[in-house]
Amino acid sequence: MALSASVPWRIHATLPRSRANGPGERFVVWTQGCSLGCAGCFNPETHPAGSVAREVANVVREVLATPGIEGVTVTGGEPLEQPEALAAFVAGVRRAGLGVVVLTGFSRAEIATDPALTAAVAGVDLVIAGRYNRRLHLGAGLRGSSNKEYWDRTGRYSAAMLSAVPEVEVLIGRDGTVTVTGMVAAPGGGGQ
Ligand code: SF4
Repeated sequence: MALSASVPWRIHATLPRSRANGPGERFVVWTQGCSLGCAGCFNPETHPAGSVAREVANVVREVLATPGIEGVTVTGGEPLEQPEALAAFVAGVRRAGLGVVVLTGFSRAEIATDPALTAAVAGVDLVIAGRYNRRLHLGAGLRGSSNKEYWDRTGRYSAAMLSAVPEVEVLIGRDGTVTVTGMVAAPGGGGQ
């Protein structure tokens, strides 16, 4: 797969600085679109494919202009339903030495047997893989449910670093906007 930073990327939201979506302070991207249909997903507004896209290069520039972050986390929606965009984004931020965590509903086996998905995670430090299962709801350590697998690809993030990630954070913007993020234990729901 040829990598091009000019590929379009359908994004639900971004957050320039978060402590509840991976080790340290991280830029977070929620992608738009997920067809996996996990029962109890708390993020249904990310499921429609959407029609608005940003260029990957534009998002990479925004990340690189954010001082003091350890890395990025890409979640969703389903990041691997746009594998070319994810690969281009990861290549762009890795050049700056940033760490990369991807949360996906695809299993490690599904990724390993699909060349496009394999290429998309080639530069990722940690993939947290597998469908959300509400009967196994966990909401900690970046795992929505306990069946989800840590696929440690580089050793950059230790188990202790992952277990220290807060389960939720509340951010209040200068305009009074309240953003709640992290592995929120929503009643009857969960997700990535
Ligand atoms: S938990 Fe993740 S993979 Fe499952 S439906 Fe929700 S967004 Fe899609």
